[in-house]
Amino acid sequence: MQERIRNFSIIAHVDHGKSTLADRILQMTHAVSVREMREQFLDSLELERERGITIKASAVRLFYQAKDGQTYTFNLIDTPGHVDFGYEVSRALAAVEGVLLVVDASQGVEAQTIANFYLALEHEHTIIPVVNKIDLPSARPEEVALEIEEVLGLPTEEVVFASGKTGQGVEDILEAIVRRIPAPAGQPTNPLKALIFDSIFDAYQGVIPYVRVFEGAVTRGDKIRIWSTGKEFEVDKVGVFRPGALEPVARLGPGEVGWITANIREIGEAQVGDTITLADNPTDGPYPGFKPAKPVVFAGMYPVDTQDYNRLRDALEKLKLNDAALSFEPETSEALGFGFRCGFLGLLHAEIVQERLEREFNLNLISTAPSVIYRVLTTDGEMIEVHNPSMLPDPATIAALEEPYVRLTVYTPEEYVGPIMQLLQEKRGRMDHMNYLGTRERAKRVELVYQVPFGEILYDFHDRLKSLSRGYASMDYEQAGYQEGDLVKVQILVNEEPVDALAFIAHRDKAYTIGRSIVDKLAEVIPRQQFAVPIQAAIGGKIIARATVKALRKDVLAKCYGGDVSRKKKLLEKQKEGKKRLKAIGSVEVPQEAFLAVLSAG
Ligand code: GDP
Ligand code: MG
Repeated sequence: MQERIRNFSIIAHVDHGKSTLADRILQMTHAVSVREMREQFLDSLELERERGITIKASAVRLFYQAKDGQTYTFNLIDTPGHVDFGYEVSRALAAVEGVLLVVDASQGVEAQTIANFYLALEHEHTIIPVVNKIDLPSARPEEVALEIEEVLGLPTEEVVFASGKTGQGVEDILEAIVRRIPAPAGQPTNPLKALIFDSIFDAYQGVIPYVRVFEGAVTRGDKIRIWSTGKEFEVDKVGVFRPGALEPVARLGPGEVGWITANIREIGEAQVGDTITLADNPTDGPYPGFKPAKPVVFAGMYPVDTQDYNRLRDALEKLKLNDAALSFEPETSEALGFGFRCGFLGLLHAEIVQERLEREFNLNLISTAPSVIYRVLTTDGEMIEVHNPSMLPDPATIAALEEPYVRLTVYTPEEYVGPIMQLLQEKRGRMDHMNYLGTRERAKRVELVYQVPFGEILYDFHDRLKSLSRGYASMDYEQAGYQEGDLVKVQILVNEEPVDALAFIAHRDKAYTIGRSIVDKLAEVIPRQQFAVPIQAAIGGKIIARATVKALRKDVLAKCYGGDVSRKKKLLEKQKEGKKRLKAIGSVEVPQEAFLAVLSAG
């Protein structure tokens, strides 16, 4: 019954208790027995295997017997938490009619509370504010409810008070879902219009798109068409999400949330945000705003052992099958040999990919420092995208060099505004605006909105923001186009040879400091050789910083290798292990750390 379906998401700032509350809701709707229950049920990636399907439980269908005596079908759709995957959050929200906006009763409103609130507002969703963790001794529920009213404009009367931990108030939440969130609209007789809000890849069944049906219905044997690619597939099965299982059903109708199998072999063929319709009776238009996920950060990945090149390519191809945002193309480095330039959504995404390559495919990799995409306008009037700093064309041919910007929002208690503005200035940020939110003394929060070069906040910005605000400030950002900058390429020379994999692009005013810090770091991490090794940073032909790796002294060697046999053996083994991540550059061995030195030099 369509009128008794409720589709909703839970949104919150990180750690405000989203997963714990979801657990409690699962339990109270008897979706999982007490025996099966374990903490953060929806979070576990490798949740269950059934017929070879690994289920990412990003959606679940629940049944709730409400106080009005009726049984309601709830579809709870989980959203990814990290800003790298913000695009998926927005698509997940598109699949529902309402949200629970969870706010920690002691922390109050934070940056992602606001960012998520605006996303929900854009979709014109019903928003149920939940003040959570009211069991905490430090909880100040009434104040936080007022803060929600003042900052977000949601009246205090609408706030539900709860504790995901003790279960207090959770029934009130379930009743609010029934009463306040509208049943989905849509006509079963209309042509199919289904939004892909997530997907998984299964080795046997291929891509399994997770869909929200807006109009029409889909069933086994239907010929479906993916809107943006025009590709057509025959539906094998459709189904819904039950905790820990993909449960087949006869048909998915309007307002329903479920999955489709249709022997789709690559995730690029059914991307999140795209629309599925019927080949013979297509809908008049797609769900609006689909843009394929696009990498914004690039890094080189090289096998430590050159013989692993083909294995690395195979591994990247396999990963790409279930990660549409990952891109890669072959790249050659003088220093590192044959490898790949890989594109990612952000640093977290890059880390995840490297870890999966190493763990799941047993590869040993050297990665270069992640870099943003620069744009060069050449004197010939051509526009080139530069994904690798060492590939920046000759400065004489560059008419303009542009860097990507983000629109950064920082949300902080008033007392930290000074130091945060200083940090933002150091990062070459320009203020868009500043809002004082809240009128009472204790809830005085400030929202700072800045335009900042993406490259400046890539590495250590978040850590520094947290440390100078004692953890109270929080941030969010979105890509905001390109602007010209006074940028230079800095080369690093090891033993007088420029090392392409260490080159980086920086603002002219900062090139000296960063170069200085990198050569010092390199001098520290590059093991001593039999001879002294000069390390230099240079812009064009001009050396801007230098340091030296001192030559190894004979007596140091002697000292090291003295002692008993077992200790010596251990030492040798340790060295061998360490060697795995060394790359010989000329006659100098350079460790992985060195290639990431720029990360700590920002
Ligand atoms: P998420 O990041 O929003 O998913 O938050 P989690 O559900 O993972 O919770 C973050 C932390 O807060 C965990 O240590 C939880 O045990 C704790 N927590 C969550 N809900 C409550 C609650 O209602 N009361 C208390 N005291 N702690 C809670
Ligand atoms: Mg969580």
